[in-house]
Amino acid sequence: MLGYRRFRSRTPTITAMTVPLSAAAALPSEIVQSPLPRLKITEIFTSLQGEADTAGWPTVFVRLTGCQLRCTYCDTAYAFHGGTWWDIDAIVAEVLAQGVHHVCVTGGEPLAQKRCLVLLEKLCDAGLDVSLETSGALDVSAVDPRVSRVVDLKTPGSGEMARNRLENLPLLTRRDQIKFVLCSREDYEWARGMVAEHRLNERSMVLFSPSKDQVSPRQLADWIVEDRLPVRFQMQLHKLLWNDEPGR
Ligand code: SF4
Repeated sequence: MLGYRRFRSRTPTITAMTVPLSAAAALPSEIVQSPLPRLKITEIFTSLQGEADTAGWPTVFVRLTGCQLRCTYCDTAYAFHGGTWWDIDAIVAEVLAQGVHHVCVTGGEPLAQKRCLVLLEKLCDAGLDVSLETSGALDVSAVDPRVSRVVDLKTPGSGEMARNRLENLPLLTRRDQIKFVLCSREDYEWARGMVAEHRLNERSMVLFSPSKDQVSPRQLADWIVEDRLPVRFQMQLHKLLWNDEPGR
């Protein structure tokens, strides 16, 4: 997910392979389904949550492999293919072993693998604070209600606006968040219109984030203040902390 590039540890902590990597890599990975209780994973690592309502908390990230979208600003294209099969119980064990309370299931598009729903349920059962980052292109209705869903609305500048599943919007609650990544003033005006038309702020927290090198953070902040928009400005913390240093 955008700006969904996180602070990747230099050594991803994938330690519980259940099939050889070479065998997994030979399988189609764009949208992977398995008859077994397992998921294809790109990486599991601990860092600071850089976005959304839990920004700043130490968080375990579970990045699932595969995404059907190709957003213009995507910086996690490395999650489109490859990955390693993990048993779902092994994923939960690895997350618990990281020793932090927050876990974020992300991608790629995590819901592209149907058994992601099982993983989310098991992480909640384990007593963790669980969030899900999703493109907004797939149905979120079956996600465990204990999960905080961070759902994108893709703008015209993303190149993937036609994939927005607007049927998701009435399903969202105060527990969830709706996120826009803005590539231009035109995107901003489109997003502002969507907030008003669907009264999104009355349903969930609305997040506006600038797309790197396309809209300056200050410019976006000024627009929001000028319009008195009921949305929350956000920047990715890793750009402030590590200035895009590779591996963070
Ligand atoms: S939805 Fe897919 S293509 Fe778009 S930013 Fe997220 S991972 Fe990248």
